[in-house]
Amino acid sequence: MAFSIISLFRTYPFSSGSLSPLNLLSMPPVRTFRISSSLSTSQHDHHPKQQQDQHPSFRDTSTRWKPMCLYHTHGKCNMMDDQVHLERFNHNFSEQLRLNLMEFKNLRSQQFDFFLVLDLEGKIEILEFPVVLVDAKTMDVVDLFHRFVRPSQMSEQRINEYIEGKYGKLGVDRVWHDTAIPFMEVAQQFESWLIHHRLWRKELGGPLDKAAFVTCGNWDVKTKVPQQCQVAKMKLPKYFMEWINLKDVYLNFYKRRATGMMTMMKELQIPLLGSHHLGVDDAKNITRVLQRMLADGALMQITARRECNSTGKVEFLFKNRIR
Ligand SMILES: [Zn+2]
Repeated sequence: MAFSIISLFRTYPFSSGSLSPLNLLSMPPVRTFRISSSLSTSQHDHHPKQQQDQHPSFRDTSTRWKPMCLYHTHGKCNMMDDQVHLERFNHNFSEQLRLNLMEFKNLRSQQFDFFLVLDLEGKIEILEFPVVLVDAKTMDVVDLFHRFVRPSQMSEQRINEYIEGKYGKLGVDRVWHDTAIPFMEVAQQFESWLIHHRLWRKELGGPLDKAAFVTCGNWDVKTKVPQQCQVAKMKLPKYFMEWINLKDVYLNFYKRRATGMMTMMKELQIPLLGSHHLGVDDAKNITRVLQRMLADGALMQITARRECNSTGKVEFLFKNRIR
């Protein structure tokens, strides 16, 4: 059977908000990523060519998998005219998220227009805040918001150790240090990004407009965002009051339990791309699970909701859920 590959992407310019460009001329990003690119592919033994052959639904037209330029995701890449850099690093956030026409036959109408796939990194404080914006009707990846986050209540030495341990092995510690900003600023830039995409109205200050967060588990929105807001001494934004835990939808739709992203990907035969526990790669891989579930006919519904009062109690809306 011949699969016709179609490109579903609108190429939106990155909205980097009020970021001021860094002078990166003295520190070419290429050096920063060299480990990430080879490590992530060899460690998981995922040769991109093989992946494409084995998984026709996620075949894409690129010849090989490339790591994202993480300066670019921050709107700070100044090597866009360097062919070697462009060949080594991916500057198109949706490149590995292309779908083919066969995927659409079971697609059903959704109650949301957009999904925001969020996958935070950082146990003590949030270190990375990646969000993939997916069109619910076309499964098109519309945009990516990606920020590294600098902890606000940690000594410089502790931050350095923390980042070395977490991102050093992925080869992205340097870019983390070059780009990370405090959570308060990330939250402001994220709100500008939401407004830019007409997903939220600041003057109303309420929930998202016809959009919902999609996470793998409840931890991100239930626990970590409120904790980080407390640390940053800011009020929890109203758009963090409800979310879709993909694992609960997965359980109810496929009638089988998946305890995490890796299990879902394995069961759905979706190849892992990039580095597991690099937030931006995890968010993209979760997006691939979401796309597959939408393609299979799953209905995405809110699975958990937080009360807007002082108790902030969370109600879980699915009877069958992963605990
Ligand atoms: Zn770049």
